[in-house]
Amino acid sequence: MPQHENITTAKEGTLFSERQWGLAVKTRAQTEKENLAAAKINEGSIWEKELAQSYEGDQWILSNTQKGEQKGGLWFVKRKLYIPAILRAKILHRFHNNQSAGHMGITKTTKTVAKHCWWPGMRKDIKTYVTQCDDCAMNKSRGGKPTGLLQPVAEPTRPWECVAMDFVGELPVSKGHRYIWTVLDLFSKQAHFIALAKLPSAEKLANLYINHIYKLHGCPSRVVSDRGVQFTAKFWGKFLEMLGAERSMSSAFHPMTNGAVERTQQTLGQFLRIYSNKRQNDWSKWLAFAELAFNSTIHSATNKSPFEVIYGHEIQPLPQLPKWPENGETGAGKWKAQMQECWDQVTASLKEAHKKYKTFADRKRMEGDKLEKGDLVWLSTKNIKLGLPSKKLSPKFIGPFRIQEIINEVTFQLQLPKSLGKIHPVFHRSLLKKYMGTLDKVDT
Ligand SMILES: [Zn+2]
Repeated sequence: MPQHENITTAKEGTLFSERQWGLAVKTRAQTEKENLAAAKINEGSIWEKELAQSYEGDQWILSNTQKGEQKGGLWFVKRKLYIPAILRAKILHRFHNNQSAGHMGITKTTKTVAKHCWWPGMRKDIKTYVTQCDDCAMNKSRGGKPTGLLQPVAEPTRPWECVAMDFVGELPVSKGHRYIWTVLDLFSKQAHFIALAKLPSAEKLANLYINHIYKLHGCPSRVVSDRGVQFTAKFWGKFLEMLGAERSMSSAFHPMTNGAVERTQQTLGQFLRIYSNKRQNDWSKWLAFAELAFNSTIHSATNKSPFEVIYGHEIQPLPQLPKWPENGETGAGKWKAQMQECWDQVTASLKEAHKKYKTFADRKRMEGDKLEKGDLVWLSTKNIKLGLPSKKLSPKFIGPFRIQEIINEVTFQLQLPKSLGKIHPVFHRSLLKKYMGTLDKVDT
């Protein structure tokens, strides 16, 4: 209370003076900087220009003008921005390779692109593009059996009601950090990634929760953690104490293992492997982008992006692409109804996804692609020492290398470069993954 009085009695202009907020004098350099920023924000209109120019020679739109609609010099088909042939690769790069997109898989990339854009054969183009992406091939596992079976968790019905958290590490030191604390909302699938210097005690974690999560999302009714009953109970007790709440509420938490966090961490790992430098000591600078990419990507369990479930709309990771002008009513009542509908859908989807995931978890591993002599393959780094500081952030596959000899159905001899050192070049089938890129296709 006394603090409050201090603030209200302070005279206007003393506490929040312009000088204190650095707004006092605009120097010439600052003005120049601002102009530069303004130019960047105009990237949207640069796209507009580029699009408008590219329509001219575009075969499809020339012979299908009746299928499209023109608005402000731009073409829309079914209310989606039509992308001319020569710009498609650039758009795919933006929605797949950019650090705000995070090299997501075929389904997720397709969903993201389809939200904004359209062109004939778009789905096939995306499939080819992602399949041929070398960054993805080197850094993602084959996507076989998920680790650990999914156990029934009481299904939440609103965002940040049930929270799952865990830690990734130990990682190579990055700006003094060695661990990533991942906090996941089991309803919207929104995640926060926080870099930590060391593994916190339960007390410390309660403090961190308040400073990073509670201030944004309030008090959860359940916390799920893989760190064991003891730890979670201690954390929960301390957390309630800090809120000034009754300790007896602690029956609310429900500790158990959960596949959701592991999958979030897999996605996070993929992201950091792709964008981190060779020494892997810059991962902490990518965390914010990883979080944004994760939260803007449509989640298979809800069929919506976490941002959409939380805010009712997508956030803009980059300057906006031109959009179909929507002129429906946007009253608060309508928004509320939309959010309710959205959450009902999410609740239903979560039930469905849960069922599906269970079936998937029980299914056996699929057979791989057929490999032949002369084929190019990626080699798993599982049993290879790469001399990089962290196994967790190292590429999962290296190559591609050519198959020199098929020794038997499951044993292959590869042509390895000298740079790999003395490695016996014979490998089991399970360590190889067919190369899907364009190296071999160039000269044919
Ligand atoms: Zn990729």
